[in-house]
Amino acid sequence: MSDKLKIKKPVKRYYRKRVELFRLIDKIKLWPSRTGTLHGIRTIEKIGDQARITTHCNKTFMVNNSRNSRASRWLRNKWFHDICPACRIPDWKLAKYSSTQFKRHHGSLLLDDAGENSR
Ligand SMILES: [Zn+2]
Repeated sequence: MSDKLKIKKPVKRYYRKRVELFRLIDKIKLWPSRTGTLHGIRTIEKIGDQARITTHCNKTFMVNNSRNSRASRWLRNKWFHDICPACRIPDWKLAKYSSTQFKRHHGSLLLDDAGENSR
């Protein structure tokens, strides 16, 4: 039918506003710190309702799996004022994040999404 055009421009993604924090960070792999710095997540180790997050700059902390936590809200609203230089978040990841939209009635809840989309 048509040639597959490999366009670098990221596709717009739609996620639900009420997506669980763990599913969201599993997908996005970014963490907005309380001080407004965006970090890259290296590992997420789930322990019941909590998870231990390790960033690429080697910060480790526990978070709760909430839809309405500060981190969920800040991720959805893209509230950050700088990007951690130590985490070295690749540009494609930031582009993908900035093209992600959060909607109340439209988009994925990221349920049953086992496939890792590393692009
Ligand atoms: Zn960092």
